[in-house]
This record gives sequence, C-alpha cells and structure tokens, in this order.
Amino acid sequence: MNQTTRLASGALEARVRRDLEFLNLPPRNWVPPRARQGEAVLDVVVVGAGMNGIAAAGALIHRGISNIAVLEAREPGREGPWMTTARMDTLRSPKTLPGPCLGIPSLTFRAWHEDRFGPEAWEALYKIPNAMWQDYLSWLQRVLELPVRHGVRVTDVAPEEGLLRVTAETPQGPRTLLARHVVLATGRAGAGGLVWPAFVPQELVPDLAIQACEPLDFAPLMGKSLAVIGAGASAWDNAATALERGAASATLYVRAKSLPQINKGRGSTGPHYFHGWDALTPEQRWELMGYMLDVRSPPPHETVHRALRLKGFSIVFGAPTLGARREGAQVVLSLGGETPREVAHDYLVVATGYRVDLDHVPELARFAPHARRFGDVIPDAATRPDLAAFPFLGTGFELLPRGAGAPSELGRIHLMNHGAIASLGAISSDIPGVMVAGDRVAQSILRALMRAEWPAIREALQAFDEPELESTPFYVPRGMEPK
Ligand SMILES: Cc1cc2nc3c(=O)[nH]c(=O)nc-3n(C[C@H](O)[C@H](O)[C@H](O)COP(=O)(O)OP(=O)(O)OC[C@H]3O[C@@H](n4cnc5c(N)ncnc54)[C@H](O)[C@@H]3O)c2cc1C
Repeated sequence: MNQTTRLASGALEARVRRDLEFLNLPPRNWVPPRARQGEAVLDVVVVGAGMNGIAAAGALIHRGISNIAVLEAREPGREGPWMTTARMDTLRSPKTLPGPCLGIPSLTFRAWHEDRFGPEAWEALYKIPNAMWQDYLSWLQRVLELPVRHGVRVTDVAPEEGLLRVTAETPQGPRTLLARHVVLATGRAGAGGLVWPAFVPQELVPDLAIQACEPLDFAPLMGKSLAVIGAGASAWDNAATALERGAASATLYVRAKSLPQINKGRGSTGPHYFHGWDALTPEQRWELMGYMLDVRSPPPHETVHRALRLKGFSIVFGAPTLGARREGAQVVLSLGGETPREVAHDYLVVATGYRVDLDHVPELARFAPHARRFGDVIPDAATRPDLAAFPFLGTGFELLPRGAGAPSELGRIHLMNHGAIASLGAISSDIPGVMVAGDRVAQSILRALMRAEWPAIREALQAFDEPELESTPFYVPRGMEPK
C-alpha cells in the first residue's frame, strides 16, 4: 500500500486528545472581545497555513488566544512548497525532527508516522517523502482544530486607528477584516519574492525560461535539452525532475569552480542558535549572517546522486552566465569564464533562489518604507546591499520603526518567515526551529494583549467572586464581613 494513503488507526488521535486533556489545553480564551463600530476585531490574523502558520496558530490557541483566523491562499493539502515546487524526492532534513508539535509528543512527525505505518516502517524510513510531510501538516491542522480559511489570499495590510485592516481576495470576492496583530507566515517567497538575474531577459518567461521555484509543467520538455543556471539544491532537483520525465539532457551552468562542501546551516542549529541568536549584538548577527550567505550550502548528497544516476545529466563549473537571448525556438546563453562561448538549449531554469527585501512584499507596501532594516543599524552596511535589505525585527518577529514617521501600528505586524533569519536565526525558515518560532510569536502577542487589555483584566479580577469557603464553617457571605 502507498505509505501516504494508509489510513490512521484512530489511536493517535485519541492519544492527542488525552495529552491535551492532561495538559488542560487549550485554555479558555481570556482576551476580552472587541468591536469597532459594530465590526468584530480579531485578535490575530495569521497569513499562511504552512508549518510556521500552524505553529503560530497552535501556540496562540494554547495560550488562550483563540479569537484568530488563519488565511491561506491555496486549497487544503497544497500549502507550502511540498506538493508543487519542491522537486526533491524527500525532505532534506532528518526524519527525527519533531515538527511543529507544540511540545506535545503525540503531535510529532514520528508519532504520526508510527501510528500510520507502524514502528518497523519508522525504523525503515530513510528520509520523509514530500507528500508524507504534507499529509502530516494537514493532519496537524485538523487535530489542532485550527481556524484555517483556504482560498483566501491577503493582498494588503493597512493601519486603521491602532488596528490593522487586512484585505483579501476570497472565493466570494474581496473581503476585509480588522485585526489587532497580523502574523505573516508566508514562506520563503514571503519576504521579497524570487531572485531573477538581470542578465536574463524577462521576456523569455514562460515559453523559454522559468525561475526554479515557480510551478512548471515538465511534460513539454520531453526529448528536449534543458539548461539550469545555479548549483543549489533546487538547480539539481529541477534537472533531475526534467530527466526523470523524459528530457534528453539537463546541464547545470555554475559560476564557481566547485561546489560548497560544508552545510554550515546544519552546524548552526541547536538551542543556543535558536534561542540565543538575538542575544548577539546587531554587529555579531551581521557578521554571522554575512558568513552564512558567503559560504553557501552544498546540495544534499542524495540530490547529487539522484542526478548523477540519470542519463543526460551534466554540470559545467567555472562558467558564469553573462547573458541570454531568444533565437528561434531556443534560448542561447553567453558563458564567461576561461572558455567563453555560447550554448543553445530548448529551455532554461534559473535557480537563483529567494530574495529578502520588504520593498518587494506586496502585502506590506504601506509599511515597508517605515520598517527598520539591517542597513539602518549597521555602519557601512552599503558594502553589502543584499544583507542591508534584511529587516531588523524585534524578538517577537515584530517590525520595528525606522524613524519617527512610522505608523504606530507597525509593531503589530510579525514577519514570521525567512525574512526573520538575520534578526532571530533560522527559527522561521527551516523545520528544526519551527517550534521555537511558534512559541516566540505567541508569547510576544500574549504580552502585547496583556498590556493592552490590562484595565479590563484588572476589572475582571475585581469582579471575580467565586467563594472558596462556601462549604466550610468559615464561610462569610459578601457584605456580612465582621467590622
Ligand atoms: C523546495 C524547498 C525544499 C525545502 N526543504 C526543506 C527541508 O527538507 N528541510 C527543512 O528544514 N526545510 C526545508 N525547506 C525550508 C522550509 O522548511 C520550507 O520553506 C517551509 O515550507 C517553510 O514553512 P512556512 O510555513 O514558513 O512556509 P510555507 O510552507 O511556504 O507556507 C506559507 C504559506 O503561506 C501562503 N501564503 C503566502 N502568501 C500568502 C498570502 N498573501 N495570503 C494567504 N496565504 C499566503 C502560501 O500559500 C503557503 O501555503 C525547503 C524549502 C523549499 C522551498
């Protein structure tokens, strides 16, 4: 039986219910409901129902903040890259990572896998197939009863007298919501979109070229020759996928003379990096992030072996692409390096990754000019414009103001995606840190709501009158206290 289609035994869901019961989770909602001119105000809108959106929403609900909505552009089961643009066979990370489990053992990936396929299958599992990871995330959404609204794409977040007005495209047309806080858990592309190199004309898209992280129908590439610019994991995955689906050849053109050898990302995980990154000074974080960008990561060895097994695969090192042009039905690349030349291919995949720059986040267009970047904090940052563009966030992922003219609502926006990496480490980028990020953002929002609601909460305490001693001889009814 296909591992991803086997049904759950039901035992795990009973265990989840029991675990939550043992922990008294979730607590009742404690945030007083608010409305403005008759319109209900949500305490939090989480944008994106991928693993970070799940972690944020789950952690909020487990802190008694349940007047929330999770808005997801895609349909159920298609969140994130796993079923669309992730073209590897399995996840790159180890199977033992707990996932966005909110610290509860029965919500871990391993618990889910053992329940579905048995402990022997867990032992036999090497790495997690993409579709299986997606199934697990969909299961989490369901058992945590997260209030996800699918098919809802957020297009704008605007300040509105101390609140945030969220505009979204929905199946019923445009709608707006009022929220106190917005968490943008919008994934890798959510912090600035994709990188497209200036030397490749945009007019080649889509009939002759595409960015590696875009959806691509490989069927028309059958029997054709593919060029890929780049040597990161996605470059290899795209080449391998094309060959597996019948392409005649796939060639990677790489500027460097060899591949990076060490995955420093793996070397910079663990509690100290996840919880301690923002204990470092801005200068230390700048140096560390610059180092991580410079050393680059190698593709996983499994990815390399997958491509090398396929007939028609080749890689050319020391061959920077200087330009590209259309010639008939083909794309011609001008290569530099020691042997400059031109090469013609039937199709081009540009594997140049993701950008981090708030000026390219459409939902944040109103706030981006006012949001602090590393370039505002580090002297001489102009020497590294790529790093200078990274947002400089507060510890709860909140945007910080650049100057006095920033809207006061700015800090109600929490950028819980890859854009947070330079400020807070890789806690909302990859799977190893996902639990830390969910907890962090929920804790920060809890503290903000506690401050905002303190008068009402204090008043509620004054009115709290549950008589503890009613059943004892020492009970004194209210108003009958001895003078
Ligand atoms: C190809 C690929 C492979 C990866 N492999 C690994 C790996 O093996 N191990 C690892 O640790 N990490 C991996 N990562 C990194 C990381 O784990 C993933 O990017 C992961 O998907 C991040 O989760 P997320 O919730 O932040 O974003 P996503 O999973 O991308 O979810 C974001 C969601 O937000 C939605 N969204 C975006 N904008 C809007 C909007 N305006 N309105 C409404 N909804 C919106 C999207 O539809 C999407 O479903 C990989 C990343 C990629 C791209």
